[in-house]
Amino acid sequence: GTSTGTVAPRHLPADLPDRIRHYVGGEHVDSVDGTTFEVLDPVSNETYLHAAAGKAADVDRAVAAARRAFEDGPWPRLLPRERSRVLHRVADIVEERDARLAELESFDSGLPITQALGQARRAAENFRFFADLVVAQTDDAFKVPGRQLNYVNRKPIGVAGLITPWNTPFMLESWKLGPALATGNTVVLKPAEFTPLSASLWAGIFEEAGVPAGVFNLVHGLGEEAGDALVRHPDVPLISFTGESRTGQLIFANAAPHLKGLSMELGGKSPAVVFADADLDAAVDATIFGVFSLNGERCTAGSRILVQREVYDEFVERYAAHAHRVVVGLPHDPATEVGALVHPEHHAKVMGYIEIGRSEGRLVAGGGRPEGFPTGNYVAPTVFVDVPPDARIFQEEIFGPVVAITPFDTDEEALALANGVRYGLAAYVWTNDLRRAHTFAQSLDAGMVWLNSNNVRDLRTPFGGVKASGLGHEGGYRSIDFYTHQQAVHVTL
Ligand code: NAD
Repeated sequence: GTSTGTVAPRHLPADLPDRIRHYVGGEHVDSVDGTTFEVLDPVSNETYLHAAAGKAADVDRAVAAARRAFEDGPWPRLLPRERSRVLHRVADIVEERDARLAELESFDSGLPITQALGQARRAAENFRFFADLVVAQTDDAFKVPGRQLNYVNRKPIGVAGLITPWNTPFMLESWKLGPALATGNTVVLKPAEFTPLSASLWAGIFEEAGVPAGVFNLVHGLGEEAGDALVRHPDVPLISFTGESRTGQLIFANAAPHLKGLSMELGGKSPAVVFADADLDAAVDATIFGVFSLNGERCTAGSRILVQREVYDEFVERYAAHAHRVVVGLPHDPATEVGALVHPEHHAKVMGYIEIGRSEGRLVAGGGRPEGFPTGNYVAPTVFVDVPPDARIFQEEIFGPVVAITPFDTDEEALALANGVRYGLAAYVWTNDLRRAHTFAQSLDAGMVWLNSNNVRDLRTPFGGVKASGLGHEGGYRSIDFYTHQQAVHVTL
């Protein structure tokens, strides 16, 4: 290679596979046509893995296996308590392997190792949460005294198609697998093609936990091939999708002839609104974390910061200073706060937005490749200020460590700026005025609002976006609703 002496030697996890296959009906299989696709590691951008490239025929096989397991297998007929026990074992195994999972995920995705570890733990928690929830589930019953008794039968739906993105792959897969399996469905997972490595670990985890063959099936491959075949498959009544808004629109259209159940968790351009009366220390810390954690590749990133004029200059100065201190490093280094972006194509997209930003705002931190990282998908934490609301870097999802900061004067102006984009996933508000905080939250076009708070999830609360950020809600019993039919039974007394 062209080592310059500043580049650390390539770090390879032990026992890294160089080939991964589909998992269908309890067997590891190649694609029917034998083809594979290449997977790069984002530090060297060298191919380290060949993954089976699923086509319609592979999806057919996986759906057939899932359908057999649904129609003939024990899984949908187990008592909730029995399924719950198995899923708690899944959580135990994920917890036991959290270090290994994080190591592979960090290597494959470029996420900082400490943050990948947090995501692995959250994956275990997702299984625990839904395992408990189906046991505690109560269903409605209604009486008309002396006349009628009406009750609800909750039933799994069938084969759920799960299509997931690359930003926190393992965790987002668990967010769908947990409720889909807890409610008694069988699944076909199509993970993101940039980051298929951690998904390939599910097969062993489920086998060890005692999930029957055919309940979990995995097809690797490109979105337009494997993902599309799943979306159009007549025997897949449910599609749960997380990814870009544009892809979500396409999936909606392609699923329409089959009238499928669709859950859509899409893109975001979430505002963080900082009022002059806010605790500025807390607001600076949280808004730094909000856009630079997970490399900025976070759907709920606070990628636009709106700051009230009285504190604008002070905020900008402190924010830029803090952004300079954010540690960019190799993904496996525990000191790293921003690692390498997932893929050279995505890196080019983010760098393209930084070039656009130079003519749209004033650059006060970052602005391209960080020093000491001549190769790999590195981007310095980048801060543009004085960004007008019609700027592309204000309107469009960049999905990297790039933030736009914009001043405002009044509450009304802040609200118009906050809501003035096509997205509506999350919002963050910083103020010490209780009344303002709650009334402002109510007016925001956002599925989730955090008041004086970091992005901390409570798994019982709804998760989902409005406008171009999605349709439907997951989280708590809403996930149970998505993955089940509710049949009303009426009895005359
Ligand atoms: P993407 O839309 O490119 O891909 C997501 C998945 O869809 C991948 O598995 C891909 O292979 C598949 N796919 C692509 N085209 C398809 C098609 N025509 N038919 C079926 N499947 C297809 O998204 P991405 O780049 O992987 O992920 C980043 C995006 O995900 C960002 O927009 C981010 O905001 C969003 N995201 C949203 C949430 C949320 O909960 N709202 C969470 C994480 C990420």
